[in-house]
Amino acid sequence: MTAPAPADRKPLSAPQKAMHKLGLVRDIDLALHLPLRYEDETRIVKLRDARDGQMVQIEGTVTDVEVTYRPRRQLLVTLDDGSDTCTLRFFSFYPSHQKTLAVGARIRARGELRGGFVGRTLLHPAFKLAGGELPDALTPVYPTSAQLPQPYLRKAVAGALGRADLSETLPPELLRSLGEVVRGSWTLRQALQYLHHPGPDVSLDALEDRSHPAWQRLKAEELLAQQLAQFTAKRERDALRAPALPTRAGGLPEQLLGVLPFGLTAAQRRVSEEIARDLSRTVPMHRLLQGDVGSGKTVVAALAAAIAIDAGWQCALMAPTEILAEQHFGKLVGWLEPLLAPLGKRVAWLTGSQKKKQRQEMLDLIASGEAALVVGTHAVIQDQVQFKNLALALIDEQHRFGVAQRLALRSKLGADEQGAAQEPHLLMMTATPIPRTLAMSYYADLDVSTIDELPPGRTPIVTKVVSDSRRAEVIERIRAQVAQGRQVYWVCPLIEESEALDLSNATATHAELSEALPGVLVGLLHSRMAPAEKKAVMSMFSGGQMGVLVSTTVIEVGVDVPNASLMVIEHAERFGLSQLHQLRGRVGRGAAASACVLMYTPPDGGRLGETARERLRAMAETNDGFEIARRDLEIRGPGEFLGARQSGAPLLRFADLTTDGHLLDWAREAAPWMLAHRPVQAEQHIARWLGTRSAYLKA
Ligand code: ADP
Ligand code: MG
Repeated sequence: MTAPAPADRKPLSAPQKAMHKLGLVRDIDLALHLPLRYEDETRIVKLRDARDGQMVQIEGTVTDVEVTYRPRRQLLVTLDDGSDTCTLRFFSFYPSHQKTLAVGARIRARGELRGGFVGRTLLHPAFKLAGGELPDALTPVYPTSAQLPQPYLRKAVAGALGRADLSETLPPELLRSLGEVVRGSWTLRQALQYLHHPGPDVSLDALEDRSHPAWQRLKAEELLAQQLAQFTAKRERDALRAPALPTRAGGLPEQLLGVLPFGLTAAQRRVSEEIARDLSRTVPMHRLLQGDVGSGKTVVAALAAAIAIDAGWQCALMAPTEILAEQHFGKLVGWLEPLLAPLGKRVAWLTGSQKKKQRQEMLDLIASGEAALVVGTHAVIQDQVQFKNLALALIDEQHRFGVAQRLALRSKLGADEQGAAQEPHLLMMTATPIPRTLAMSYYADLDVSTIDELPPGRTPIVTKVVSDSRRAEVIERIRAQVAQGRQVYWVCPLIEESEALDLSNATATHAELSEALPGVLVGLLHSRMAPAEKKAVMSMFSGGQMGVLVSTTVIEVGVDVPNASLMVIEHAERFGLSQLHQLRGRVGRGAAASACVLMYTPPDGGRLGETARERLRAMAETNDGFEIARRDLEIRGPGEFLGARQSGAPLLRFADLTTDGHLLDWAREAAPWMLAHRPVQAEQHIARWLGTRSAYLKA
């Protein structure tokens, strides 16, 4: 679609703006905007023939209207369709409801029929006056937003579907191989026509579980687009140049291994070799290092840094929070500075909260190259930071950084002596293990190294699920731990969208624990505190003077205090499984037996729901991060894992990696073939499905 000339460009209406916000700009975007579900308005059923739980459309006469106040204000309308009666129940209603639903009126109502003690009801049904034509196809219900009414969107989609270019981008070879994976050979046009406007005789079940061949066809297309975009990004990157960083016998990495107080695990050795191999090449490394919490990623990062420094280059390590950055800094200074000092080099430190003078000092060290390693927060990527020769960028907890930030770090290396553009090598780290299907689909452009074993001597963490009603017992347990010289984390509930509430909760808990545990220093850490204050609290906790640390979540994933042996997570039911697992990983880092208490709060007067309880039970059953990630993917979908990547990268809209592995396998084979043999169609296919969003995949 071409943009209209400025003269006849009309301002966008509110629904148009809302459509743009949903990414529905081109005709093809609308054509590929598929229904979430359908409503069957093609038939009127008799109440006598309908079963409870069924979506029904009925027509009848209003025989009674009543507003009651018990148990709360509601409008009850009795409808008689000649075969039986049923009650329409509204908890929110307006005078217009009562006007239309007057005694004697003939009404058409649609909703889910519920059986019940007081007779059958439709809760908040859609309704209008009876009569009027019945549509001859199922009515699509599209994903939409509050500013975009369903009927408007329906019309827009129907119009766009007629105009859009739906010619095949898949060459016959790929259609053939796809035919071996999915039933039926649907063209794109047929599949779209069918899914937008299925006939009245179609089974809703087959449509809604998305196993239908038309759905399969679209999901395959979508996965292909995603794979094509990622393979393209990878190719572009492979054409770039990075400094080769060979590992030298007897060099810094070997010296570092010599001074470490422990030997590497086999997994740490393996991933370090994978990284060293990448670094020795002139193609920029683009590798994700994944390893469960506590698996020892930091030392692997330090070894990579040592390789870069040994080859005469600079290295940067960026962490998402100041506390994390500080911990890394402390560790890396301890390990590396004794080795760097004889070379006249040091480790620099950069954060947003730094005093101006100190910051300038650091900037000078970095520009001159005296700082061989720079550790810090987002401050590392700011414009004023000029590296002399950055060759390796390390990003910890990578999912907490955005695409733009990763790009900024990569741009910190300029041209080489010959004037050709150079890129630093990039190593991203994450403690949220990514399930295999997800890694293959979203991270197809990344090389992945996995640390799949923990250092020896860790005692497994025992996880208990308890109700908040046993709070006193839990506090008793804290007292016992502290009496033995151990330390305790207490993580406060995450209240979505309300930082203020988060805070008042944490403050209240802090007061409660301080009072219940006289003689114990109880600290408080939350995101609103000034960095210096946070730092002071954290250092008292790592130093061992503070027995209990109350903290709001999210902020401090990754801290390392081996003496902490108990973690209490309040309102555990509000967290994702992977998040709980990460939090839990803060304990069990030393030799002491460690425990994690997942405390849940049942809703007012009720019991915690079955799914919620099952999720918490799963946490108690396994300590295996991969298993937990797999379950989390099932329950919550991929958003959790992709983190910031999600903001730019096209999330899959239709394909579901837990059920569509066969389509993903097909797409992974098809994509490189198509790029090699049908590059023009490949480009068209990417443009059709991803529009401009594919640029984000390059980060
Ligand atoms: P994470 O992978 O979660 O970032 P860390 O790098 O913080 O884990 O390591 C967790 C703890 O384990 C640290 O105290 C670290 O010094 C220690 N550690 C790392 N590797 C080993 C090893 N091979 N043997 C013993 N301890 C180790
Ligand atoms: Mg870490």
